[in-house]
Amino acid sequence: MTPLPPGSTIGILGGGQLGRMLASAAAQLGYRTHVLAPDSESVAAQTASSLTRADYHNRIVLADFAAQCDVVTYEFENIDVAPVEWLAARVPVHPSPASLKIAQERVGEKRFVEQVGGTPARWAAVATRQELDDAIASVGTPAVLKTTRMGYDGKGQVRLQAPDDADAAWDAIQGPAVLEAFVDFTHEFSIVLVRDVDGRMVSYPPPWNEHHDAILSRSTLPAPAEIAQHWTQAAALTGRIADALGHVGVLTCEFFATPDGPVFNEMAPRVHNSGHWTIEGAVTSQFENHIRAICGLPLGDTALTAAQVEMENLIGDDWERWPDVLAEPGAHLHLYGKREARAGRKMGHVTRLRR
Ligand code: AMP
Repeated sequence: MTPLPPGSTIGILGGGQLGRMLASAAAQLGYRTHVLAPDSESVAAQTASSLTRADYHNRIVLADFAAQCDVVTYEFENIDVAPVEWLAARVPVHPSPASLKIAQERVGEKRFVEQVGGTPARWAAVATRQELDDAIASVGTPAVLKTTRMGYDGKGQVRLQAPDDADAAWDAIQGPAVLEAFVDFTHEFSIVLVRDVDGRMVSYPPPWNEHHDAILSRSTLPAPAEIAQHWTQAAALTGRIADALGHVGVLTCEFFATPDGPVFNEMAPRVHNSGHWTIEGAVTSQFENHIRAICGLPLGDTALTAAQVEMENLIGDDWERWPDVLAEPGAHLHLYGKREARAGRKMGHVTRLRR
């Protein structure tokens, strides 16, 4: 692919903090960014060159957006695939709608990952209350019942300790779901990989990801031995997933580390919260590498810039600690410009480097 020259316009579907950080990385490389998002408060628009505030389904808006952009990307996967496919027929869209479709629906995602040699937790598809009983019989308990679509940060999932929890779990989820065996993991980690238009790939060292209430709270590098031993295998699987999809841009796979090997949890066809540490902690950030990949530029070095790197999410009221963070040597503060700090809302993050 001929590289897109600086000054070209990158369209971003979605108005959240991932779009905000993508737009900053794009600006550094001399690109313009155009955000399309329906939200009344778009924190991506604060750093982008322009914003269209509109519904993703408005064809007049989409046609205008396609005409103004040289390439289009998306910053979240809970977007309808139809407008993305419509755009892809008119302007290059990276990652392609194929990656989006697979990541949006847990049953297809697990089947696909099994086909390329990955191992998810034992699972069964559940369409009705009766099927939940069958699934409990085959998967066992403890288990997690997850909606097949639109789940994130622990939303759309409920834990079953015993078969007796089936009624309550079904009442909470009420729809197409997947029952997953509860994985007795030692650690959680992720592989953030970037693939360019010609199929070249680089990936970052895996962080140890700690969650609180199913929301990422901390990523730490280098990861402990329980994760490091699975690095090669997990990175190879992520690479096979990216190749099979013809993925262009960042692809993130989340894993559970167990003594029996890495267990695949889920994938995101985009930059990821567990890669925020790369802004200061890696030679090239995940955001810059995503922009490089979708614009046909060479991919950048993913090595660590410090002996130890830690990323802490600032969730809800945590952001009020910003003066203390600024006083810390070696701490880098990122606030996302959101007006309202609701419980569980990601308001910013801190990256700490130890040399
Ligand atoms: P998810 O949104 O599916 O990534 O789930 C959010 C978090 O819930 C994960 O990062 C885990 O901490 C936990 N979790 C989800 N699924 C499982 C599972 N099958 N076994 C154990 N923990 C899980």
